Amino acid sequence: MDLQQKLAVLADAAKYDASCASSGTSQRSSVGGRGIGSTEGSGICHSYAPDGRCISLLKILLTNFCQYDCLYCVNRVTSNVQRARFTVDEVVALTLDFYRRNCIEGLFLSSGIIQSPDYTMEQVVEVARVLREVHDFRGYIHLKTIPDASPELLQKAGRYADRLSINIELPTLQGLEALAPEKDGTAIRRSMARLAVHIDDAKGAARDSAATSIVSMPKATPKRAKAPKFAPAGQSTQMIVGADATDDATILSTSANLYGAYRLRRVYYSAFSPIPDASSALPLKAPPMVREHRLYQADWLMRFYGFSHDEIVPTTQGGMLALDVDPKLAWALAHRERFPVDLNAAPREMLLRVPGLGVKAVDRLLIARRVRRLGSSDLSRLHVPLKKVMPFVVLADHRPARALDGDRLAAQLRPSPVQAALFDN
Ligand code: SF4
Repeated sequence: MDLQQKLAVLADAAKYDASCASSGTSQRSSVGGRGIGSTEGSGICHSYAPDGRCISLLKILLTNFCQYDCLYCVNRVTSNVQRARFTVDEVVALTLDFYRRNCIEGLFLSSGIIQSPDYTMEQVVEVARVLREVHDFRGYIHLKTIPDASPELLQKAGRYADRLSINIELPTLQGLEALAPEKDGTAIRRSMARLAVHIDDAKGAARDSAATSIVSMPKATPKRAKAPKFAPAGQSTQMIVGADATDDATILSTSANLYGAYRLRRVYYSAFSPIPDASSALPLKAPPMVREHRLYQADWLMRFYGFSHDEIVPTTQGGMLALDVDPKLAWALAHRERFPVDLNAAPREMLLRVPGLGVKAVDRLLIARRVRRLGSSDLSRLHVPLKKVMPFVVLADHRPARALDGDRLAAQLRPSPVQAALFDN
């Protein structure tokens, strides 16, 4: 099999992994140096797969051979798919080639498990080591780590990668036991905890070295030693949604625990996609894509809007998020007693709960109201969706009409139904 054929197989096999965003790392550039690559986006060709996922990283598996038999995975040992395997040098050459042609801003590398978790992890780490140490590659590297690999290999991976991730796979330990019996949910969390400690240690060392005064030798240019970096873009994980019966409330509770206990940067939600020759334990069709979207919106509310996981999912809907309205609007409609909110007096926490007001708009409102009383025209200038915001707020020249209470308001704010295409689910 030639390199192009391997690329076709192993890039296709990687498309099920959603966690490929390249945000939050430190800035590096090759301008004025001898290395190749930068972590800044300029000049980089961002492209998107037909399903909308970002593919501006070269996103591949080292191999899609795997000795495990996770039922939801197209690469499981019992799956009847074409197999391929890259060598370390092939992945390095492809990454450099794509980078030079301005097609990618970095590499996202995952792998099926071959021989043993440690053997696989060594190969994955070797790709990153050669890129960094031999080719001085300064682009973005995201490594998917093998949870059962030794702590030493995880530590080594963090020295070369911007971001590390370990897939939690399913929202509950019971779900993992049922669908991926060879995977150890406790080991996954133990590895996440180890990475969190290394990331914290590196951040602490960076703070200490920045605070240390520079002692200079006579006539020498003072220079501060740099603290070693460990996965500066942190760690993330991916959870498959809809492969088992876990409800949204449980999914968000697991995410809240992952953010709190292991300080993950992101939890990615990946709607289960049916695979060829699937086990009868799996659903026959994918959950609606809008469910994945609502989970991302709910996740956003937890991370940036001060919502706790247990107040986002309405108690009346069997643990599921509403699909017809976004979770913030659903919360506001269910808590009409908390509205209207006076935009000239309410604290930031309450402004963030107003449907249609984003973090930037709230911060601008807080600055503007220091100098004058806000009116409707101020909201127009902020380009917020007035139809959504006005029923929930009081302004100097506006108070919502009583007639908008209750069901009528919900009906008015629900997006209009769209004619389904012939082949929609
Ligand atoms: S270990 Fe990973 S690649 Fe292997 S079957 Fe499970 S999910 Fe798929």
